[in-house]
Amino acid sequence: MIDVLNSPVTVLRGIGQKRAELLKKLNIITCADLIRFFPRGYLNMSEINPIDTLVNGQTATVVAKISSDISKRVGKRVTRFLFSVSDPKGNILFVTLYNQKYTGEHLHPGMTVLLHGPVEVIGTVRRMESPKIKIEAIPEIEPIYPLTEGVTQVSLARNIATALQACNAQLKEMLLPEIREQCQLPEIHEAFRSIHFPKTMEEAERAKNRFIFEELFLFTVGVRILKLRVRKLNAPQLKPVDLTPFLSRLPYAMTNAQKRVIRECFDGLRRPYPMSRLIQGDVGSGKTVIAAAAAYLAARNGTQSALMVPTEILAIQHYESLSTLLTPCGIKVELLTGSMRPTEKRDLLLRLEAGETDLIIGTHALIQKSVKFKNLAVAIADEQHRFGVQQRAAIQEKGQNPHMIFLSATPIPRSLALVLYGDLDISVLDELPPGRIPVATRKVGSDLEERMYRYVREKAVAGEQAYVVCPTVEGSDDMKSAVDFCEELRQTYLRGISVACLHGRMKSEEKEAILSDFVKNKISVLVSTTVIEVGVNVPNATTMIIENAERFGLSQLHQLRGRVGRGSKESYCFVVSDDKSEEAEHRLSAFCSTNDGFEISRKDLELRGPGDFLGNRQHGLPPFKIADLTRDMKILEQVSKVADRLFEDPSWFILPENRALFISASGMLRSAMLQ
Ligand code: ADP
Ligand code: MG
Repeated sequence: MIDVLNSPVTVLRGIGQKRAELLKKLNIITCADLIRFFPRGYLNMSEINPIDTLVNGQTATVVAKISSDISKRVGKRVTRFLFSVSDPKGNILFVTLYNQKYTGEHLHPGMTVLLHGPVEVIGTVRRMESPKIKIEAIPEIEPIYPLTEGVTQVSLARNIATALQACNAQLKEMLLPEIREQCQLPEIHEAFRSIHFPKTMEEAERAKNRFIFEELFLFTVGVRILKLRVRKLNAPQLKPVDLTPFLSRLPYAMTNAQKRVIRECFDGLRRPYPMSRLIQGDVGSGKTVIAAAAAYLAARNGTQSALMVPTEILAIQHYESLSTLLTPCGIKVELLTGSMRPTEKRDLLLRLEAGETDLIIGTHALIQKSVKFKNLAVAIADEQHRFGVQQRAAIQEKGQNPHMIFLSATPIPRSLALVLYGDLDISVLDELPPGRIPVATRKVGSDLEERMYRYVREKAVAGEQAYVVCPTVEGSDDMKSAVDFCEELRQTYLRGISVACLHGRMKSEEKEAILSDFVKNKISVLVSTTVIEVGVNVPNATTMIIENAERFGLSQLHQLRGRVGRGSKESYCFVVSDDKSEEAEHRLSAFCSTNDGFEISRKDLELRGPGDFLGNRQHGLPPFKIADLTRDMKILEQVSKVADRLFEDPSWFILPENRALFISASGMLRSAMLQ
């Protein structure tokens, strides 16, 4: 028996070379592609609109009796049929048909017809021009496919019907009957028929859900299989060590959440296979010290660790705080940035490769080819949402199956995290260090600018510092830019105050110098772009002003707000916006109403969907064909639960009846990883 599914569409009756070329434009090459070319929607003529509910511009389906004579107008080029239909209540709809001679000739008063088309309402007169018309008024559902030139709905549907018939015997069911039953999913043959040629909308919906489920399920199973394989890999086993020297250098006592998360980390680091752990904690919850503890453990075990951060500014800060903490313990901490002098860098890389460096902190520069470790045991990515899959994989490849720790201030639901990062373990820092006063957040219009900056001025005179964030660097008419606004502030409200500008286009030395002056309080007000979004820590800064706040996403706003309220003084965050759109109002008031990062994340995810929320591709959202994580979170959770249960007994997928699933899942994962 030939493998019809994987054969080119030309094996099908009615599809020649020319037709195949056309279908190729729709990415349809094999018969499997053809039957998996799902409708993007349905023309649901079974949903009937009563005539008296019709509104102008609506596309409606009406079933009614012809209540007038059929008037036929024969012109030079067009033949028109005019008539009206009415319902039992006497509501009338006028209908015009053009050139539908065959149908037109068969119409007669009293006949029931089904009309589907755009409605025009002028005053009390309702009209439909050239609707689809069915004389035998049987309600129907028609699939609507995305098309390309030369391919019509009808011809495509016909090709698909042919393909389905030819492939029918070869379709393999991959979902166990128990799963289908439990999740109310149709069996595969029925699902293919129903998604293309449903009898009811419910049937179409169920079929679609099945394919969404299947896609997410295969992916999830693939990820779980990968995890089982990971367990066979040998990672550096890090033995527990006495943390006292480390703890005694900390200027504070750790929160219980920090202690617990460190325990969870160390537990994974002790195992013989690599740990992948996501640590979620709100801004300011103290994630850095977790990284420090892991680095301490690695060094005491005679191995190396790396901390990768998204910006140079943050790398420098982390370097400063971690070396203060770890150097006295005899741990060698080094900093690698893109802007180092070549000789300096060469020496550093030599020390790293020789194993003299215990912890290296750096930006993306860490994943360059030239960076080699002697024995990298723990790789940590801070603000991991800023890194893509490739970058995470690249740092991982610097060692022999090193343990991975991801630090994140934007918590995501577990089911989504699993899709994004494979099967990782999750630790939650759900406690802020004591004594923090929540940042008071106010939304203001630009009419309050003067008052606001007068306040900033007073605070500056009193020795406290402020951030002003603008959406662009320079030269924009419709929003504030850091360079221009900084100049403006210097000449107006903040004359005589030390104001500096900071943005991503500046040289790193320049950035570094400014930031270090800000840390030392030589600069009172820092006007910047979102370069300060990630992680910068200046406890003396107590005011955050975000200009054109409507330009930022919720999570980003929260990150920015997290730059203040880091000390014991009361802090304020002002979001400045004149945008009166409902969307902006909604987002900004949601922002003002809570300080809880988890709440903000949930809201952001809900408002933007996972695609935008995570920045899409860059963050490795797999390119699903039919599933859409924006919409299908519920199904994803269902899938997650089913997979959890299946994997309680990992031997299940070795069973012959699950072989197809196993192969498909592995294949699916492979192709997703290659994207
Ligand atoms: P984030 O989770 O946002 O990365 P950081 O690690 O930068 O937070 O910590 C924020 C601030 O809180 C730092 O100044 C840090 O020294 C301080 N900090 C961390 N843990 C504690 C604690 N347990 N008690 C008091 N201050 C802490
Ligand atoms: Mg941080």
